[in-house]
Amino acid sequence: MDGIYLDNNATTRVDPLVVDAMLPFFTEKFGNPSSMHSFGDSVGRNIREARGQVQALLGAEFDHEIVFTSCGTESDNAAIMSALRTLPDRREIITSAVEHPAVLSLCRHLEEHEGYRLHVIPVDRRGRLDIDAYVAALSTNVAVASIMWANNETGNLFPVEQLAKLAKTFGIVFHTDAVQAVGKVPIDLKSSVIDMLSLSGHKLHAPKGTGALYVRRGTRFRPLLRGGHQERERRAGTENTTGIIGLGKACELALAHLTDENTRVRGLRDRLEKGIVESVGNCFVTGDAMGRLPNTSNIAFEFIEGEAILLHLNREGVAASSGSACTSGSLEPSHVMRAMDIPFTAAHGSIRFSLSRDNTAEQIDHVLAVLPPIIKRLREMSPFWSEGAPAKMAFEPEYA
Ligand code: PLP
Repeated sequence: MDGIYLDNNATTRVDPLVVDAMLPFFTEKFGNPSSMHSFGDSVGRNIREARGQVQALLGAEFDHEIVFTSCGTESDNAAIMSALRTLPDRREIITSAVEHPAVLSLCRHLEEHEGYRLHVIPVDRRGRLDIDAYVAALSTNVAVASIMWANNETGNLFPVEQLAKLAKTFGIVFHTDAVQAVGKVPIDLKSSVIDMLSLSGHKLHAPKGTGALYVRRGTRFRPLLRGGHQERERRAGTENTTGIIGLGKACELALAHLTDENTRVRGLRDRLEKGIVESVGNCFVTGDAMGRLPNTSNIAFEFIEGEAILLHLNREGVAASSGSACTSGSLEPSHVMRAMDIPFTAAHGSIRFSLSRDNTAEQIDHVLAVLPPIIKRLREMSPFWSEGAPAKMAFEPEYA
């Protein structure tokens, strides 16, 4: 499909090399890896290879620390529920205010319906975690701390290694949702104390419906799905062989592209961001400019609605996403923007551009050509905007 796709934190295009790797597993290599014959046996070997590819991207010490799942959401749920079941006397959970719903809504459910005490750690205006509040919440009553590695909206990176070390001193299981981080930043779990880590295939050029959970060797584990003996009894269900092969290949490619992601893709993101901020007034980058994913830029445009910007960009062939969602007919800023206390007038107009290795400099130039006139037109129509005013930002983010 033609068009400029800048919504890679929502999902990515499956890499054609991933598709090629998967194809034989639909037809020739269709065996069930649990079967005791050559059809199954050979697929079993390919799954082991895929596990090794995921292990390599995560820098994990052992391949059996990787459990294949159906998505990031399943991995998050499996990790948190396992921690709670292995530590039944501990009735508290720590998480952050900006987690993906895959973590946050599960934690809220556990609070409301199962009586757990939930510590939701706040963030500041740049979306940085309040470490003091995190430390204050730690105790031997807490079973699990689940803090994301990278935020999907702002791209902010959290100091998960430091947080994991702090948690360990209280015997707390530390889980991180690394769905947005894997393949974008280097990860070396060998030299880490993180107990569990979630990833999702469709965020790194593998198909949807694939994912994995890293479970450090020695971590006690209770499966979410019970049934057959697959995945060393940690995730029942006949393996999604094609998906697993695709995920493995995608991880191999992600490792090979990691430098590109951190140099060329970062350069494109910076060029886009700088170009927009310089040519469009009354806008600012949300998030932590110093500690972000290399591919993500979230920009708040004052006095206009993000949805309107998206519609106009879409007409120009550009796909991005907004930080507000339509709930009951009104546009509500996302829980992330609200947690950061970004004023309504700006949070409403926040747009997330998320790049991938598929993007080119020409595409970025196209966006830089079409976006400023769109913003100008929309502001002219906005009841909150009058020509020439406000010359100054209504809200200046507190950058150090
Ligand atoms: N966690 C984060 C940070 C995400 O961005 C997403 C997807 O957007 C998920 C979890 C859920 O992953 P999946 O779509 O594979 O269930």
